[in-house]
Amino acid sequence: MQYHRLALVMAGLVTSLPSAAVEWDAPQEPFALFGNSYYVGPRGVASVLITSRQGHILIDGGSDKSAPQIARHIRQLGFKLEDIRFILVSHAHIDHAGGIAELQRLTNADVLAAGAGVPVLRSGAAGPDDPQYGKLPQMAPIARVRAVLDGDIVKLGPLAVTMHATPGHTQGGASWTWQSTQGGRTANMVYADSLNAYGSGGFRFSADPRYPGARLDVERSSARIAALPCDVLVSAHPEVSNLWARHARRASLGNAAFIDGGACKAYAANALSRLQQRLAEEAGKSE
Ligand SMILES: [Zn+2]
Repeated sequence: MQYHRLALVMAGLVTSLPSAAVEWDAPQEPFALFGNSYYVGPRGVASVLITSRQGHILIDGGSDKSAPQIARHIRQLGFKLEDIRFILVSHAHIDHAGGIAELQRLTNADVLAAGAGVPVLRSGAAGPDDPQYGKLPQMAPIARVRAVLDGDIVKLGPLAVTMHATPGHTQGGASWTWQSTQGGRTANMVYADSLNAYGSGGFRFSADPRYPGARLDVERSSARIAALPCDVLVSAHPEVSNLWARHARRASLGNAAFIDGGACKAYAANALSRLQQRLAEEAGKSE
């Protein structure tokens, strides 16, 4: 959502961000989410580190400017960059994947993404099937990227992270789930991809030959996110799933502040209402 806003700000078309949107690379101290899972991104774009004694898994690499901040956060928490074996991707836009080439250089990790995102990550350029085609800045190309399939489990020592294909915002969208344990409690962790129906260049979610399934994909992906076992949710843009409101309650509740069994359902409902709004806008334009 605020990708759009920021693009407009960068293009000089609007001069300020809406109050709800957070600047991608606004500073944020890293913190434990639950058990072995840590938030290591800047404030506006998420990045989550899942740790083990046999190596770590990182999800998303922020924007093209985020990589140094993410690397610093990981070291600050006492972990080594070279112990990261996999970097998982939500979707191939510059605010989530722009920092990955640099993080791969620092870690030597393999980058894993949904199949439709792989050529975009390798080349750094989205194709015309992307609803935002034509407005997307070039990303640093990522040297080694492999495709994972819906339901695939990325395993590393005791870690097991499941990929859920969640296309719609892009065709190569992926969400990731795993479990973390703290104080005898096991939480279902969800890293949810963006689900917002935003297009540019006249793209129509109602029907567009460049991506005919866009509307159905947003609906299906929202339903999938709503149905996940979900205790701790981090979305690719963390403020969209109210992470900062939960983070603010940490002082009184400890890491239990991050547990919200309704978070995935609320996130999906928000995406569906955004889609309805978009479809109404498109219908208005065709009259
Ligand atoms: Zn995006």
